[in-house]
Amino acid sequence: MGSLLCVVRLRYSASCVSPTNPRTLRYGAAAIAEAARLIAAGQCVAVPTETVYGLAADATDSRAVAGIYAAKGRPSFNPLIVHVADLAAAERIAVFDDAARDLAARFWPGPLTLVLPVKPDSGIASLVTAGLDTIAIRVPNHRAMQALLAACGKPLAAPSANASGGISPTRAEHVAASLSGRIPLVIDDGATPAGLESTIVLRGHILRPGPITAEALGLEAAESMGAITAPGQLASHYAPTKSLRLNAPGRVDGEWLIGFGDVAGDDTLSASGDMVEAAANLFEALHRADASSASAIAIAPIPETGIGVAINDRLRRAAHPR
Ligand code: AMP
Ligand code: MG
Repeated sequence: MGSLLCVVRLRYSASCVSPTNPRTLRYGAAAIAEAARLIAAGQCVAVPTETVYGLAADATDSRAVAGIYAAKGRPSFNPLIVHVADLAAAERIAVFDDAARDLAARFWPGPLTLVLPVKPDSGIASLVTAGLDTIAIRVPNHRAMQALLAACGKPLAAPSANASGGISPTRAEHVAASLSGRIPLVIDDGATPAGLESTIVLRGHILRPGPITAEALGLEAAESMGAITAPGQLASHYAPTKSLRLNAPGRVDGEWLIGFGDVAGDDTLSASGDMVEAAANLFEALHRADASSASAIAIAPIPETGIGVAINDRLRRAAHPR
């Protein structure tokens, strides 16, 4: 259908010269140089990180940041995570205390985001923090995002590279499908290793569970952070277009079953019951289920331990009635 539409459009519009938008370039020096050129020109580019694919723009350029919100169709009250090359760069933007410095030393580069007071002279566009006096910041551990940060020499604001509310992208193909026609470039470096958004920590509390578990951090999840705006905290988020039934021991008619461990399905997060493998496969499995011919999706029970806390957090939001 998509290609048919494009053929029809081709007859009338000279601008539809290629059905490929965004352009996809394999990770490498040429891809990074082109991405850095686009970012310097105020555009946003999709780039893999160790968590999911991010939609990166210059965090000091308010027009560029506005471009992220526009491409995602994201509600403007949701602040963005800023990615920097190292702790020194982070300390130029945010105020670190000893506890924050200790977490950074233990987990950076890596999938841990710290919410810290933003420095008044940080140069970060206020659209990034949505006017808050705190900023969410991390040092990513992925060669593509690290190379892009080095090439740009700027902090990069980068939420997940999908239309707001949809399933997070763990492959370049997911980005291209979700943001088709809305961004110029995706850097393709295969599937993202963790497959789940970063753990977010605010003043010793976990605001969003993620690949770095509460046990590893030695922290507890925040129970009553109600006033804090976090897309990961919207009841409906990471949502497939079809309904999703949780804790399913088996399939009912018309469902696509995502298995785990002993529950075999049309697909499985991990046949061996490996939780880290399950996290890495989660969003891809949801994408596949959404693209299948089944009318609804069911998913096997996932144990609420370790990274299973983060997986179930995403699943509850994906299953929430819209
Ligand atoms: P995403 O970029 O889609 O992974 O989502 C960014 C996450 O960081 C969301 O849950 C945001 O609400 C959260 N976040 C960003 N900045 C702040 C902040 N200043 N205070 C609290 N949460 C934040
Ligand atoms: Mg997201």
